[in-house]
Amino acid sequence: MKSKITVIFMVLAGLGFIISLAEHISSILGSSLFSEEPWFLHHGLFVVWIPTALCARFLARGLPKKRMWKAALRGCPKLMRYMVYALFGYTFLNFALSFATSSSHASASTSTIRLFSGHWLFFYYAAFATLYSYLQLEKQAPARLCHNGHVLGLSASSCPECGVAVGDALAGER
Ligand SMILES: [Zn+2]
Repeated sequence: MKSKITVIFMVLAGLGFIISLAEHISSILGSSLFSEEPWFLHHGLFVVWIPTALCARFLARGLPKKRMWKAALRGCPKLMRYMVYALFGYTFLNFALSFATSSSHASASTSTIRLFSGHWLFFYYAAFATLYSYLQLEKQAPARLCHNGHVLGLSASSCPECGVAVGDALAGER
């Protein structure tokens, strides 16, 4: 994917995350920031996740599914990756807390928004981090080595020189 397009979607994902965070905090405090309900944030996810899925698939090409996240995020600084995992954990915590704390005081829509916005946080941030990772790795391409040390392109699934499948030799992985 072209870098400029990737940057645009990365910025959108970053904005989506910030707005979701503000809306999430607001919903915990018992109100919504938007007079119209904030479902545009839900639709926005589909906009940023189409390019994100393309980039993630590209970064994880030739790798087993369970390593997909690690591969997709390998261009991010450690802190960013931990944020993705922490927000993933938070979706479950928020899910539980939304039910535990939804009393008759809060309006039904506020607790629904709280529930959804907890997920938006994770999905926007994960999209942001994946696109960031992609941009970083694209800059340092060729970023991968085969088992015999030949330099490969970012997307290669096997070595063009010796034919070895590229399984676990990601140069950018820490
Ligand atoms: Zn090779």
